[in-house]
Amino acid sequence: MNLAATSSRVALVTGGIGGLGTEICRHLARAGARVIAVDLASREERVAAFRGEVASFKGAITFEPVDVSDFSSCQQLFARVEQQCGHVDILVNAAGITRDASLRKMTAQQWHELMQVNLDGVFNMCRNAVEGMSERGFGRIVNISSVNGQTGQFGQTNYSAAKAGVHGFSMALAREVARKGVTVNSVSPGYCDTPMVAAVSAEIRAQIVAGIPVGRLGSPADIARAVAFLAADEAGYITGANLPVNGGYFMSF
Ligand code: NAD
Repeated sequence: MNLAATSSRVALVTGGIGGLGTEICRHLARAGARVIAVDLASREERVAAFRGEVASFKGAITFEPVDVSDFSSCQQLFARVEQQCGHVDILVNAAGITRDASLRKMTAQQWHELMQVNLDGVFNMCRNAVEGMSERGFGRIVNISSVNGQTGQFGQTNYSAAKAGVHGFSMALAREVARKGVTVNSVSPGYCDTPMVAAVSAEIRAQIVAGIPVGRLGSPADIARAVAFLAADEAGYITGANLPVNGGYFMSF
């Protein structure tokens, strides 16, 4: 990766203190961007730990609170960031939750809570980012989808629908802003070694790994590299694409 590729760009990463988000922040900062991790302020302990983990970046990675499910919270975030750091050039939407249950047992609340974060959150952030990016003639938006949005997953009708929706959203927005220097892509991680997957039982994890051709879970760095690639200045001819990063998982089907 060319270290100058995102030099002097300002990047926002939602879910920025999470398993994948933290590594995405590091990769973008190493590529020269000024990175703002945005996430729930209520996760006080994790915010404090995150600040320690990125201290070696000497201010190139900072934290700002946001609730991506709330449009006005996103609006206020953009106003603060633009005042403090200038305009946002790169937006990575990595905030996400699960509310698993088979459809017969899923409550309306489980459905709506997930949609409000995983899909409305992408709208709320992109809606606030895209106008300025279009006016300035540059922008990179990378939305984190999931292998389960492509294959479906038992007990995840809500999650699979939202993640498939994220890619549909990305393609549609990519068309709207293609002539403005703004690219919109999705990255679909396979199963990664993060707290989200650690929550699964050892038996199920072993089954998952057995189904991955490269024979291991993905690392956060595997995903962050793909995000940084799409966020680079030089990636201007890639838009509306979905980049699966899943250890060859589809070859198993
Ligand atoms: P994670 O739980 O470690 O991180 C998700 C982050 O989103 C957390 O830091 C959480 O605080 C934040 N978040 C949740 N609700 C929010 C809200 N309302 N506003 C702002 N932030 C909010 O999970 P992860 O493994 O890092 O996953 C990151 C993204 O990658 C998610 O979108 C997830 O669906 C997707 N994904 C993960 C995997 C995997 O194997 N870990 C696989 C495919 C896709």
